[in-house]
Amino acid sequence: GQTLDASWAIDWLRRSAAVIAENRMMLIELDRKIGDGDHGENMDRGFQAILLKLDEGEPETPGAVFKLAAMTLMSKVGGAAGPLYGTAFLRAATAAGEQRGLDSELLAAALAAARDGVVARGKAAVGEKTMIDAWTPAVDAAAAAAARGAGPAELLDAAASAARAGAVSTEPLIARKGRASYLGERAIGHRDPGAESSALLLRAAAEAAA
Ligand code: ADP
Ligand code: MG
Ligand code: MG
Repeated sequence: GQTLDASWAIDWLRRSAAVIAENRMMLIELDRKIGDGDHGENMDRGFQAILLKLDEGEPETPGAVFKLAAMTLMSKVGGAAGPLYGTAFLRAATAAGEQRGLDSELLAAALAAARDGVVARGKAAVGEKTMIDAWTPAVDAAAAAAARGAGPAELLDAAASAARAGAVSTEPLIARKGRASYLGERAIGHRDPGAESSALLLRAAAEAAA
């Protein structure tokens, strides 16, 4: 079947950097409501650093691209999100291995590995108002797409749509993890910033594949 190669992964990161830069203030505003207001700045710093790394030399496999992203996000993003996204990309890199092309099965497996890495690190379950509320529906949609024989582009489109719905679903929730958990019921009515950034990143992945 069809596969996605390193040029897709690089395009994904470049599109991610652009969409995070465009939405920097929006992510800051979301984090101001239920956190400390730095999520947009943290993510923008990390993805701008990724652009600089890519300009130094482009990796030749998707796994190597994910690893570059992981290392850069871990060292530049900080806060809660840096280690979580770093772990996500590192687990995706391990799942992708040395393959030059990722088919739907491997893409679904890499997304699941990324989500599992976030859970291993942050211990959040669905419904606790974190990025996991975007990631888990995305992983489930990707698995369903792979099972029905969808190609990588269709799989990522389904994952991105599920992540978007998942991010919106955090609005009525009370947070059980991270800074927002200190707010109790005052977090109700606000979207989780990490779930929003996750939805933006997964949409960028789908657009790079379209
Ligand atoms: P900080 O809270 O340290 O300032 P950021 O603002 O960059 O870090 O990131 C906050 C986001 O991290 C939250 O919106 C949430 O999605 C995510 N997050 C925080 N704690 C956890 C956790 N334990 N598991 C999963 N995601 C988490
Ligand atoms: Mg913050
Ligand atoms: Mg912070």
